[in-house]
Amino acid sequence: MPEQIIYMCKDCGNYFRSTDSNLVYVEGLKCINCGQSIRKKEEDQGKKCDKCGGQIKDCLMPICTKCKSSNVKVGGSISSFG
Ligand SMILES: [Zn+2]
Ligand SMILES: [Zn+2]
Repeated sequence: MPEQIIYMCKDCGNYFRSTDSNLVYVEGLKCINCGQSIRKKEEDQGKKCDKCGGQIKDCLMPICTKCKSSNVKVGGSISSFG
């Protein structure tokens, strides 16, 4: 069983799961230090994190299943969610 991760949309407050069938991922960038994620843009190549100056690496980030925002935070795994 793949680990189920809960995500929360910071724009509309929607909760969704990594296992949701309608979940879509977009290419993004993520700080390996603080976990800050940003939507990928050309000018962000090789950039450091705005928050902590940490290294940014490519990742896939989920977009909200409701409003399609990429302003999403990880809310925890299903086990810690109850
Ligand atoms: Zn950072
Ligand atoms: Zn949303």
